[in-house]
Amino acid sequence: MGKALIIGAGGVASVVVHKCCQNPDVFEEICIASRTVSKCEALKQGLDGGKTKIQTAQVDANNVPELVALIKKFQPDIVINVALPYQDLTIMDACLETKVDYVDTANYEPEDTAKFEYKWQWAYRERFKEAGITALLGSGFDPGVTGVFSAYAQKHYFDTISQIDILDANAGDHGYPFATNFNPEINIREVTAKGSYYDNGKFIETDPMSIKQVYNFPQIGPKDIYLLHHEEMESLALNIKGIKKIRFWMTFSQKYLTHLEVLQNVGMTSIEPINFEGKQIVPLQFLKAVLPDPASLGPRTKGKTNIGCIFQGEKDGKPVTYYVYNVCDHEECYKEVGSQAVSYTTGVPAMIGAEMVLTGKWKKPGVYNIEEFDPDPFMDALNRFGLPWHESFVPELVK
Ligand code: NDP
Repeated sequence: MGKALIIGAGGVASVVVHKCCQNPDVFEEICIASRTVSKCEALKQGLDGGKTKIQTAQVDANNVPELVALIKKFQPDIVINVALPYQDLTIMDACLETKVDYVDTANYEPEDTAKFEYKWQWAYRERFKEAGITALLGSGFDPGVTGVFSAYAQKHYFDTISQIDILDANAGDHGYPFATNFNPEINIREVTAKGSYYDNGKFIETDPMSIKQVYNFPQIGPKDIYLLHHEEMESLALNIKGIKKIRFWMTFSQKYLTHLEVLQNVGMTSIEPINFEGKQIVPLQFLKAVLPDPASLGPRTKGKTNIGCIFQGEKDGKPVTYYVYNVCDHEECYKEVGSQAVSYTTGVPAMIGAEMVLTGKWKKPGVYNIEEFDPDPFMDALNRFGLPWHESFVPELVK
């Protein structure tokens, strides 16, 4: 069927590569390209010899001419961006110049401002439309599957959805006193930022980690959940007609929060450069360098994740509640692809999103968030590629 250029060679990219290789009729050829080519080579070595042909390349994804040259050389049908959010715009620029479709898992964030918003990527809408190419934004789990779940609930069970609670639980234990499950810099920027929720047409800001509840998750049990700002709320507020309230909740253990508080208090989570022995360093980037690499957590992590959405609204004048979620086991993921569940739950939807565009099911010139497409083929693919979902019409609600 086609060729995909995968940019990045970290935890999520590793899962994308494994999953493309499990789907060789769609992904006949892939090129893994990243800043550190040895990581691309290591991924290739682990999977070479199957039906999907694998190439590797070195690329600085901040550099548009380098990206354009690589795209012209490899001639992919789609670019899967699983590098960092800082590279979204340069990769989109290169796709525009070469007229190649684009998929990512996280929205653009300027490196010097911890504020992620869709406005930068939505500004590419007209240019992608004119070029006749598709950009699918946010095809991970959250954002990603949470948007697909929302479109599915809207299509099959509701006339109007008035409230969405997105619940992201990780009950995994990696045995380290403190480590993050995906890129530490991105993760810590996200959790130390102000929280927010959508309420009747506007976003209400909250102090970081200031709203806490306990939720009893299916297959995991009761966990502390904290209200966070999360990027899919911005697009869901526009794309789910009649929506009044959206909240995003994530679990954190007391141990994680205590470490984070100390790191914050001593200034280690700051993104303001400081002068250290004559050299400018960013404390958060230094912290990332001393923390365990998320890709190394795979063999040590035990337990499960549960990510899903609870919808409240109406169908035929009657109230409806609907909970749809996936439960993923860290050890099972590691057995299958050599990564823990946080990378797995992001990498599988990235591959599926690319398949949707490559096979023409979601091919539509322009820049789109995932909930703007027909959810049914994606929901079906989740079941086939390792992220089966469960549903309940009588869930416990978040207070
Ligand atoms: P990692 O840090 O493990 O991997 C990032 C990769 O990008 C590394 O291989 C890195 O190279 C490469 N990279 C960074 N900068 C450049 C550059 N300038 N040029 C080329 N390559 C570069 O991150 P993860 O795999 O954990 O996360 C990948 C993406 O997935 C992130 O955008 C993250 O926000 C997103 N994500 C989305 C989730 C979702 O549910 N939607 C959940 C989790 C993550 P090097 O090895 O040299 O550092």
